[in-house]
Formats: sequence, structure tokens, C-alpha cells
Amino acid sequence: MRSMKHLALLLREVEDQLVVCMRCGMCQSVCPLFAETGRESDVARGKLALLDGLMQEMFKDPAGVSDRLNRCLLCGSCAANCPSGVRVLDIFIKARAILGGYMGLSPLKKLLFRQMLARPALFDRIVEMGSRFQSLFIRSVDDLLGTSCARFQSPLGERHFKALAAVPLHVRTPALNAPAGGSGIKVGVFVGCLVDKVFPEVGEAVLKVLRHHEVGVFMPDGQACCGIPALSSGDLESYRALVRHNLSRFAPGEFDHLITPCATCTSTIRKIWPLMAGDLSAEERERVRLLSEKTLDVSQFLVDVLHAALAEGAEETGERRLITYHDPCHLRKSLGVYAQPRSLIRANPRYAFREMAEPDRCCGCGGSFNLQHYELSAAIGRRKRDNIAASGCSEVATGCPACMLQLSDMLSRAGDRVRVRHVVEVYAEALDDNRQS
Ligand code: SF4
Ligand code: SF4
Ligand code: SF4
Repeated sequence: MRSMKHLALLLREVEDQLVVCMRCGMCQSVCPLFAETGRESDVARGKLALLDGLMQEMFKDPAGVSDRLNRCLLCGSCAANCPSGVRVLDIFIKARAILGGYMGLSPLKKLLFRQMLARPALFDRIVEMGSRFQSLFIRSVDDLLGTSCARFQSPLGERHFKALAAVPLHVRTPALNAPAGGSGIKVGVFVGCLVDKVFPEVGEAVLKVLRHHEVGVFMPDGQACCGIPALSSGDLESYRALVRHNLSRFAPGEFDHLITPCATCTSTIRKIWPLMAGDLSAEERERVRLLSEKTLDVSQFLVDVLHAALAEGAEETGERRLITYHDPCHLRKSLGVYAQPRSLIRANPRYAFREMAEPDRCCGCGGSFNLQHYELSAAIGRRKRDNIAASGCSEVATGCPACMLQLSDMLSRAGDRVRVRHVVEVYAEALDDNRQS
């Protein structure tokens, strides 16, 4: 009953926010999906018009509404460029939750979210098992990018993907609770499942950088996903379970800042957790508020709090590798973080930075959008690949592991010799290991 009340409340909130849209159509020019399909129903204005009568539409054709609503990367380009300040992403996220609550979940999503993702210890074990046996089903296709493809016909289709890490970060470094060192600062580290299970080297680079700057680290074991995959699929129940689980792991009083190397996790904890906290207890809501206020992207923490990049300075050296940077939507459009990652890259004297064209254009990943609409996702991604290739760089850095997957796929499928790195890896590479504590 509490959930029904919550859904009704969400519906009212959506209706209140919808009236702000003036139907001006400015969002058309920035929507990467509209650029591919030219369909009004794919752009924010079309979706908002559909949601205007959500209650009626939901009774008439819930599956149709859900299909149209799910054709969206949740990239936030429309919201970032909307002259009326329509909170498009908030509306879409709430509408997906309402529809998910009204229609119920498909058996597959129930299995994926409720039986696996929402049970972090079991999820870890399943992924570890998958990592042990994956070589039976996949083969390596690109050594430089470290991508693989399926050996047999599979739901992964033509993708060139990154395999699961042989040893995830939570096994390499089970838990840390070290006091603030010379910096006088202690941070909580929210790892995020892609960094933990696919890119543990990114997590290790974060820890190396924190050691270098003598920052105390609180990294509890048993961390769970931030919940955005469940929420954006309309599964409020699993989403809530994941938020509650993470709240039990991260007591806000333990650290000064909560940092993550995943742009999506950062924007989820900062913006979505408070947005979707209406159904939590007053005490949980307060913890969400405190955590969200403390949450920073790792490059934001390093540059704005530690002034790290400025302190290192970039000495000109002999031959330097050309590197470019892709702005993750969740960093630039959602959080306004774009200068800090570039500063970190420039702090590494082994690189020369060169901006690509349209660096903040969405790479096309969009989380579950990539799974449901791979051809569209790849079509959007090819434009990003073309811009990277045209930059002439041999490396591309970014700040989101989901973008790293998409860029690797696009570059690998095109046969490009361009490495994909996380910004923090590029920065960590330049640090003097001898200064580590
Ligand atoms: S969402 Fe914003 S940009 Fe798009 S039609 Fe509405 S007011 Fe215009
Ligand atoms: S979130 Fe992105 S894909 Fe979705 S409507 Fe807005 S601009 Fe288009
Ligand atoms: S946002 Fe993506 S990478 Fe981050 S924890 Fe959630 S699923 Fe993992």
C-alpha cells in the first residue's frame, strides 16, 4: 500500500514538472537519438507530450508508453540545453518507476535485478563464476583495447566488449579503513560495479593516487551497485534495496568526502538518491542527504579539493603521446564537471592533450539502452569514434567506465589503434611511486 501511495505521489510530481515544458522544440537539436531517427517521439518534447496524459495512457497502452519512454539514453543533453529548465531526466526516471510499478517487471528483469543485483554477495559470486568460465564462450579480438567477442551466437551480438576481470577489486583489496594522513582528509570510496568487476585497474589507480596524496581511505567490503540500472528499468523495489544496502555500508560520519571513479555512480548518488528518497524513512532520508552532499567525482576531488593537478604541473618532455578526452554525459551535463579531468590529463607530462570535435556529445551507451537498442547505440557511437579517429590521438581518456566500454567497442570494431583509459589512470601513471605511504 505504501508503494501505491508512493507511485501516486510520483505521478503528481511528474504532472507538476511537465507543465514547465513550452513545447519549443529546442531539445531536438541536441538529442543524439533524434539525430539518428528524426522521430519526434524519440526527443524530449515528444516524450513529455506523451507523459502529459500519463494516467490515461497508462491504462490504455502501458507497454506502448514504456517502449517509447525506454527509447532514450538518459544522457541529459535535452535538460542541459532546455531554455525553460525542464527537469527532463527527473521526469523520465519517475515515469519509468511509475510504469514499472504499474505493469510489474518481466521475468528476466525480476531475475536480473531482484535475484542478482539486489543481493550483492550473490551477485559477486555469480560474476566470479562467470569470470572463471568466460573463456569458453568468448575470444579475444584486440590486444591493445583488450576487447573480446562472443564465440557463438549470443545476445551480445556483434559487440566487442571488455571481459570480466580475472580478479575483481573487492578480492584484490577487500576493505580499507586508514586514517587521514598528511592531507588531513579522509574519503569514502564508492567503487561501482563496472570498476570492481571489469576495470579493477581503475580502482587501483584511485587508491594509488589517494596514497600519493596521503588521503585516508574508507572502502568498506560488501559494496553494492548504486541502483541506477534497476531504477532506470522501473524496478523501484530493487533500487531501494540497493540504496539501503549502501547506506548500511557508508556511514556519512566516517569520511569527509565520498568519491567514485564512475560518472554514473557520482550523479546517481548526488542527484538521484535524494530525488527518489520519498519512500525511505526520515532517518534514511537524512543519511541520503548527507552522503549525497559529500559525493564527488574523483577528478573533481583531486583538482577542487586537493589542487592536485596544479601542484604536479606539466613539464614539457621530449616525445609526448597525443591524448584526447570524451566528456561523459553524467559528468559534464549532470554535474558540470569538465575542466577537472582535462587538468588531470595535462598534469601528466608524458601526454600532449588535443581536444576532439564534439567532446561532450553522448557516446551512445546509455546503460540499458545499449542492451535494448544496440544498433541505435552503435550508430550514435560511430560518430564519437569518427571524432576520436579524426583527432589523430593514440589514446582517449574519459571518466565513466560505461563510456569506456562503449568507446572500446566502437574503436575495436573500427580497427582503430586507440587505447581507452580512465582519467585517473592517466594521472596515476605520472606519480612518483616512491612517495607512496
Ligand atoms: S523540454 Fe525544454 S527544450 Fe524541449 S520542448 Fe520542452 S521546453 Fe523546449
Ligand atoms: S535524455 Fe538524451 S536521448 Fe533522451 S530525450 Fe534527452 S537528449 Fe534525447
Ligand atoms: S552506475 Fe553503472 S558502473 Fe556505477 S555502480 Fe551502477 S551499474 Fe555499476
